[in-house]
Amino acid sequence: MQVVYHDVIVVGAGLAGLRAAVEIAGKHDVAVLSKLHPLRSHSGAAQGGISAALGNAEKDSPEWHAYDTIKGSDYLADQYAVQVMCNDAPRAIIELEHLGVPFSRFDDGRIAQRLFGGHTKNFGEAPIRRTCYAADRTGHVCLNTLYEQSLKRRVSFYAEYQVLDLCMAEGAVNGVVALELKTGQLMLFHARAVIFATGGYGKAWKTTSNAFANTGDGLGIALNNGIPLQDMEFVQFHPTGLYQLGILITEAARGEGGVLRNGQGERFMERYAPSIKDLAPRDIVSRSIYEEISQGRGAGPMKDHVLLDLTGLSKGKTTEKLPEIESFAKIYLGVDPAEAPIPVQPTCHYAMGGIPTDVNGRVSADVNGREIPGFWAAGEVACVSVHGANRLGSNSLLDLIVFGRRAGKDINRFLDRVCLTPLPLDTASANRIRERIEEFKGKKSGETVSVVRTDLQKVMMDRVSVFRSEQGLSDAVEEIAALQKRAEAVRVADQSRNFNTELLEAIELQHMVNYSKAVAVSALKRREARGAHSRDDYPLRDDANWLKHSLCFLEEDGAINHTKKAVDLSLASSRAEFVPKERKY
Ligand SMILES: Cc1cc2nc3c(=O)[nH]c(=O)nc-3n(C[C@H](O)[C@H](O)[C@H](O)COP(=O)(O)OP(=O)(O)OC[C@H]3O[C@@H](n4cnc5c(N)ncnc54)[C@H](O)[C@@H]3O)c2cc1C
Repeated sequence: MQVVYHDVIVVGAGLAGLRAAVEIAGKHDVAVLSKLHPLRSHSGAAQGGISAALGNAEKDSPEWHAYDTIKGSDYLADQYAVQVMCNDAPRAIIELEHLGVPFSRFDDGRIAQRLFGGHTKNFGEAPIRRTCYAADRTGHVCLNTLYEQSLKRRVSFYAEYQVLDLCMAEGAVNGVVALELKTGQLMLFHARAVIFATGGYGKAWKTTSNAFANTGDGLGIALNNGIPLQDMEFVQFHPTGLYQLGILITEAARGEGGVLRNGQGERFMERYAPSIKDLAPRDIVSRSIYEEISQGRGAGPMKDHVLLDLTGLSKGKTTEKLPEIESFAKIYLGVDPAEAPIPVQPTCHYAMGGIPTDVNGRVSADVNGREIPGFWAAGEVACVSVHGANRLGSNSLLDLIVFGRRAGKDINRFLDRVCLTPLPLDTASANRIRERIEEFKGKKSGETVSVVRTDLQKVMMDRVSVFRSEQGLSDAVEEIAALQKRAEAVRVADQSRNFNTELLEAIELQHMVNYSKAVAVSALKRREARGAHSRDDYPLRDDANWLKHSLCFLEEDGAINHTKKAVDLSLASSRAEFVPKERKY
C-alpha cells in the first residue's frame, strides 16, 4: 500500500481546516485531505455572517458577546472557552480582512455589522449590530480567501480523498487511511500530528440545510477508535428553512428587518420573546413556530408552516444585502420576497456536540480531559464547548477561525517539542478497511444504502428533532440499533474502482447510524429541557442534575456508554451576570 508522509495531516478543507493549515504552513510540512474539492466544503454555504464585538455600528464589548453566547447556550457552554473566543473575535476579523476577505462596508469604509439572533447590548438590554458579513455570501468569500492563502503558502492538497480511519500507535494518533476517489486506491498518510476538521452531521435528518457531504465521518471514526463524543443531544434546528426543502434562509433576513408571521398574519414572536422578538435565539424561535402550527395557526392549506415576511424591506435592500436568498426563494418556491412572504419551516442545521477538545483543539479522551497525543479537532466536528446547548447565529464561523488558528499554533508548538521521528505506522486499520470494502462488494444480496439511510432520516426527524419524549426516544434507540445491523449488511452493487460513490456512501452510513445512536441515547438520558433539547415530559431545566456535559463512547457491540462531565463556570465565580439563571428574552 502506498504510504505518504507529511508532518501534519489536516482532514477537511472547510474554514476550520484551512485556517489551521494557514497557521502551520511555512513552519511545518502540512497537507489537507478533503473528500470534496476544498471550495465545495459546507463553509462555502454560510450566508449571514461572522460575529465580533468590533463596535463599528454601535458601542460593543467582548464581555457582552460572551454573556450572550453563554446565555444563548442555556449555560452549558464552557465559560473560559467562550471568553477566549469572544476576546479574540475582533482581532480575527481584522486578520481575515487583511488576508483579503471582501467584507460589506459602511459608507465611512469600516466593516459593516448587522443584527443577528441572541446578540444584545449591555447584558440583554436590546439587539445589537455585531455580525460582520459580505452580503449573504460570507462563507463563500472567507473560504475562497483562505484557500488562496493556503495555495500561496504551498499547503499540499489531496482533493477528493476520503479518510476512512485513524492510524494509532502507543495510544497516539500518527496517520490516517484514505481512499482516492478517482482510482479507488487505498493509501496510508503517515504524520506526526492529525487534525480533524470534518464538519457537521445534519444529513442524518430528513429535512436539513446541510450539504450532502455532511455525514459526520469524523465523529464516526472517533467513535470507532474509542474516542468519546460530547453533548450530541444538542442539534440545532434553524427556524427558517424553505418549506418542504430545508434549504436555508439566513437569520440575516430577520436581522435586516424581516418578520415571521403565522397563518393569520400575526407577528407571533412578539408573544414568545417580547424584548427581542424575531431575533430570539434559534431554539426558541423554532419551538415557537411548532407551537403556532400545533395550535392550528400555521400557514397554507395544510397549516404546516409559517411565513417569513420581507415585503417591508425596500427592493434595493434585499437585492444588495440578501441577493442569494432572494434568488433561492424565486428559484425553489417561485416567490419574489419583495412581493410575497416566503413559506418556511425549521430545518436541521447545526451540531453543537462533537469531539471534545480543549481551547487549543487538543482532543480529550475522557471526563478528566486525558490527551490523545498527536490528535486535534476544530470546527463543527469539535465540541470546545463554546455553544453549549444552543449556538447563536454567526458564532460558528467565528469558532472555526478562532479555534482553527489556535489548533494550528498548538500543533506548531507540539512539533517543535517532540522528537523528530514519527512513531512507526500501524497498518492494521488499513487492512481492516480493505476487508470491509471487499465484504461490501462481495455481497450477492442485501439492502441498498439509500433504503437504510432514508429509514434513519425518518427516525431522526420523527423522534429526535425539536420536541422529544421518553417513549419516542427509547423507540428511536431501538430502531437505530436495528439500523446499525442493517447498515452493516448493505450490499454495494457497483464493482468499479473509480469514483465508487455507492461504496463511500455505505461507509458514511455506518458513521451515521453510530453517531445517531449517540444523539438518541444522550437525549434519552437527559431528563430535562435545555437549549435545543426540549422534552415534552421534562419541560424544565434541571441544573441540580443536568448542568453537565454528556459524554458518549461506542461499545464493541454497538451500544452507547453515556457519562456526565463537569461544565466550566469560571466566569460565574466572579461575575453575577454569568451565573446560570432562567433564560428570558
Ligand atoms: C446553509 C448554511 C448556512 C450557514 N450560515 C452560517 C453563518 O452565516 N454564520 C455562521 O457562523 N455559521 C453558519 N453556518 C454554520 C457553519 O457554516 C458551519 O458550522 C461551518 O461551515 C463548518 O465548518 P467546518 O470547517 O467545521 O466544516 P465544513 O465547512 O463542513 O467542511 C468539512 C470538510 O471536511 C471534509 N471531510 C468530511 N469528511 C471527510 C472525510 N471522511 N475524508 C476527507 N474529508 C472529509 C469535507 O470535504 C470538507 O472539506 C451555516 C451552515 C449552513 C449549512
